[in-house]
Amino acid sequence: MINLIKKIISSFKISNVGICSICDKQFPDRDLHKISELALCEDDYELYSNTNWSNVFNCQSTSTNPQEALRIQEMHDFLKKVNIPSFIKTEYLEKETLIVSSFSIYIDQNHLDNFKLHFNK
Ligand SMILES: [Zn+2]
Repeated sequence: MINLIKKIISSFKISNVGICSICDKQFPDRDLHKISELALCEDDYELYSNTNWSNVFNCQSTSTNPQEALRIQEMHDFLKKVNIPSFIKTEYLEKETLIVSSFSIYIDQNHLDNFKLHFNK
């Protein structure tokens, strides 16, 4: 969750460091590749460019219902632990008076079977 909060904050404030969307490590901004809303370190930029990514899970959360954000960050942390490269794409949508965050998690297609073993999806 801390990583997700850091990521959200770093996308709003002007700072000299950012967090890689895949490995979650902190890097100076100048060392990160920005692609759409992702930030990628040198190694993971390589990986990102040479990998077919599959969207395996989506969810939405709001300020009154933040649990889903926690869930998807936990999923990302777990995937890191079992060495399945993944990243989360976040979109912000406005629904009436609510800001809805929409999260999509993508994994390396080569790890789909492994993912299904762990998540039974
Ligand atoms: Zn990285």
